Amino acid sequence: MKIAMIGTGYVGLVSGVCFSDFGHDVVCVDRDPAKIEMLERGEVPIFEPGLDTLMARNVEAGRLSFTTDLQAAVDGAEAVFIAVGTPTRRGDGHADLTYVMAAAEEIAKAATDYVVIVTKSTVPVGTNRLVKQVVKKARPDLDFDVASNPEFLREGAAIDDFMKPDRVVVGVQSERAGEVMEEIYRPLYLRDFPILTTDLESAEMIKYAANAFLATKITFINEIAALCERTGADVKRVSHGIGLDGRIGNKFLHAGPGYGGSCFPKDTKALARIGQDHGLPMQITEKVVSVNEEVKRRMTDKLLDLCDGSFNGKTVAVLGVTFKPNTDDMRDAPSLTIVPALVGGGAKVRVVDPQGKREGEALLPGVSWLDDPYKAANNADLIVLLTEWNEFRALDLKRIAKKMAHPRMADLRNIYSPKDARRAGFEAYEPVGRKGFM
Ligand code: NAD
Repeated sequence: MKIAMIGTGYVGLVSGVCFSDFGHDVVCVDRDPAKIEMLERGEVPIFEPGLDTLMARNVEAGRLSFTTDLQAAVDGAEAVFIAVGTPTRRGDGHADLTYVMAAAEEIAKAATDYVVIVTKSTVPVGTNRLVKQVVKKARPDLDFDVASNPEFLREGAAIDDFMKPDRVVVGVQSERAGEVMEEIYRPLYLRDFPILTTDLESAEMIKYAANAFLATKITFINEIAALCERTGADVKRVSHGIGLDGRIGNKFLHAGPGYGGSCFPKDTKALARIGQDHGLPMQITEKVVSVNEEVKRRMTDKLLDLCDGSFNGKTVAVLGVTFKPNTDDMRDAPSLTIVPALVGGGAKVRVVDPQGKREGEALLPGVSWLDDPYKAANNADLIVLLTEWNEFRALDLKRIAKKMAHPRMADLRNIYSPKDARRAGFEAYEPVGRKGFM
């Protein structure tokens, strides 16, 4: 099957590459010529483990190509996926649909034959119907269907998530479109991965409900963590204790500095907005959004305590600034709240992150970037473990403590323990939701 993928970001590129690996002919389109030039040279513009190899294999096999020419890519395609960004609209929390609608219009103008226009971007309930209207208006003569196919992959594990999904969700209005979608995902049908076919609205809602639920779970444990700190309980034990209950499950129960990333912050805000637009406030989700801000603020307070009440003149080493490990994505990362608070308070901040520098340099002005956590610790007053990259999971704490002017650590991912820190010679150690020492 010939497929066009509009948008070659984290979702579009991974989806395009994986569809070509299924055996389809895929043309990936982006309007950013720099991205397409890189891709044509065989370079991957984002950091996603395994993507370069899979991409090269399918380019080599002649199933995968890249272009800025949407018209040529759409011409003759049986399915065109829209995988462009839907960021938070400035001011009101709504998902900004400008890119989706622009893509829909361009597709309409370019299509020649029956085509299924599939929205992979995360879009508010009702958007696929709007896409249909936009296409109809632009091309009253065109034979087409729309389909909603929200994506659930996680950055850092995107290929595995795409190839072995918990489920695939497909919202359609016609049997014909359902058959095209079935054909696209046939390799997954054959391997018994659940494919859920629904109406358009349910498919759209599933994506927001899933993300809001996960954000709620994280925020719930983060709030419990704060209470653990007040009461002397240990959130790691609490997570373990509740996670063993099959109705709760142990995933997404790690206390930390608050959720961030390209999806949870914007999707929770968008769901809250959808609720308001329909006269039914999503009270739980609204609260999750505000509690998560509170969680991030609490982390800054923790760092302030470790710096004796002032960041001024302190040297702080921050390990990890991407919103999670194994990605270079900095969108809405907790570091974007915490690091500016340090810099604003007069600290000299050194940042180490295996992949964050390219994006982070513009977003975190006034910090210095280092490659080595041990160098960053040199004469520092505080070390902050912010993102749990593997590179930071087995540090020689003794060596770090020895290098520091004041061996103090904020372990915002609970990687180490008070015992580890004390043994290594730290004078202060603050984890999240469990007892540290100062
Ligand atoms: P992204 O910003 O990384 O990529 C979007 C790409 O689309 C950009 O390269 C941009 O240049 C391109 N683009 C925009 N308009 C275009 C047009 N008219 N023609 C051609 N190219 C165009 O975004 P992303 O992270 O891949 O997210 C895409 C969508 O998928 C969003 O709705 C997001 O919520 C959703 N999603 C993201 C993730 C994730 O982990 N990043 C997971 C699931 C769902």
